[in-house]
Amino acid sequence: MAGRRVFILDTTLRDGEQAAGVVFTPQEKQNIACLLDALGVDEIEAGIPIMGGPEKEAVRRIARLGLRARVVAWNRALAEDVRQSLECDVEAVVLSISVSDIQIRKKLRTTRPWVLDTMARAVEMAKGHGVYVSVSAEDASRADPAFLAEFARTARDAGADRLRFCDTVGLMHPFAVHEAVARLVGEVPGLPVEMHTHNDLGLATANALAGVMAGAACVDVTVGGLGERAGNAALEEVVMGLKYLLGCETGVDTRGLARLAEYVGAAAGRPVPAAKPVVGRAVFAHESGIHVDGVLKDPSTYEPFDPAEVGMVRRLVVGKHSGVAALVNCLERAGIEPDEDLMPEVLARTRQWANDLKRGLEDWELIRLYEQVRAERARAAVS
Ligand code: MN
Repeated sequence: MAGRRVFILDTTLRDGEQAAGVVFTPQEKQNIACLLDALGVDEIEAGIPIMGGPEKEAVRRIARLGLRARVVAWNRALAEDVRQSLECDVEAVVLSISVSDIQIRKKLRTTRPWVLDTMARAVEMAKGHGVYVSVSAEDASRADPAFLAEFARTARDAGADRLRFCDTVGLMHPFAVHEAVARLVGEVPGLPVEMHTHNDLGLATANALAGVMAGAACVDVTVGGLGERAGNAALEEVVMGLKYLLGCETGVDTRGLARLAEYVGAAAGRPVPAAKPVVGRAVFAHESGIHVDGVLKDPSTYEPFDPAEVGMVRRLVVGKHSGVAALVNCLERAGIEPDEDLMPEVLARTRQWANDLKRGLEDWELIRLYEQVRAERARAAVS
């Protein structure tokens, strides 16, 4: 596992934009594609050409930017969809079709043999035009494992380059994912697996990593986890998880993660939540006395990794849970050498202030408070 190179496909522009109510302008799509390329993701799923209009035009523009990343277009497993994608000059296509009986019967109102036949014909048509083909097994997590293996074998034999294992409704746990993917990798050799996980139960990242541990070669992500319902596996979580939990390599320069999340959050009208793992503004902020004391002595005591590694900055917040060490540190950073005898009183008033206002103190507020206490003591000494 350690040292293995895992490939990252970012689908912020396709599955991310499918989040209800989210729209990127063509210019925003292009900006995001350029930022993802600069960051070093391997593939960018740019959109759905069969939608036509500005969506198709945006995919075409991104495909012609000459990015280092491979540009991918999403399709149903239908010849007409593929034709529209080929007109955009993309290097790769995703061909999606349902594989669970729930979706085959209730959504497509068809049968397993029709699914196999339709998929195989779409793969052959796309491969005939020389593009890279990833076959997307929609709702794979709820499919009959034997049928999923037959589907994968059929895809491989038709010429597919990769199989996308989709936990479409986010209903799997990591142990089940590991079992299913290991089985697929074992039963259908020669067809790399790509993980596509959703966060309905908060397990998208865990499931993506479980897939990699079982042998998956590639992970689908979106910036900030933007996507349908509770979203997809988040780029920043997956990349840092691959690095720190599995020791895997990606091509991603993690220093750009925070700024990218900020840009995508603004463009999507979904600002980054404070406690969003890796890139939220609260993630490297410390207030409680014990934690601040530890972080001041050595940041690794209470931080999983250096915030600079993901483009973040550590913040020490003075507030209700502060201890003397944090107050002294804050005053010293302002060039003040605090009188230790005053600190118990400064601490008491800091807590009172934070309780009254229900917030932390700005540095200048603490400095004013310290100077006030010092002046009072000086007056008391004179009288
Ligand atoms: Mn999806």
